[in-house]
Amino acid sequence: MCIFCSIIEGTIPSARVYEDETCLAILDISQVTRGHTLVLPKKHFDNILECDDETLAHLISVTRMLADRIVKNLNAKGCNILVNTNEAAGQSVMHLHFHIIPRYGEEDGLTIEFNPQHEPYDLGEVLKEING
Ligand code: 5GP
Ligand code: ZN
Repeated sequence: MCIFCSIIEGTIPSARVYEDETCLAILDISQVTRGHTLVLPKKHFDNILECDDETLAHLISVTRMLADRIVKNLNAKGCNILVNTNEAAGQSVMHLHFHIIPRYGEEDGLTIEFNPQHEPYDLGEVLKEING
């Protein structure tokens, strides 16, 4: 059984932020910033690409609600909402989860940079390939 399924079952303890029939939100054990929270579906999906629309709609709605609560109550200045998908994108636990990472300032333990390191792509070609 995956580690998040064990947390949902209660065999592994966690700090539960929110729970309903469909999802559970817990504090991330490694707190990238204060209040770093994970929102997970109770049903196991390996990643966002595998998740059904209804569950996903509920998850994003709860994620937004909690992000708002966390930012306000912890006096954050904003937040990053992240979903890593597959190992290549940094996913280490293969059970879908949304990260809510409140942001306070330059000391935050998270940096995201967009650094194009290639010649510009032909966007027309990219569009054709995406849409088949
Ligand atoms: P990923 O890299 O898959 O997007 O994120 C997985 C996250 O799960 C990491 O931020 C990691 O700290 C967190 N995590 C891993 N194991 C546990 C655990 O047992 N309990 C909690 N609360 N978080 C965990
Ligand atoms: Zn699982």
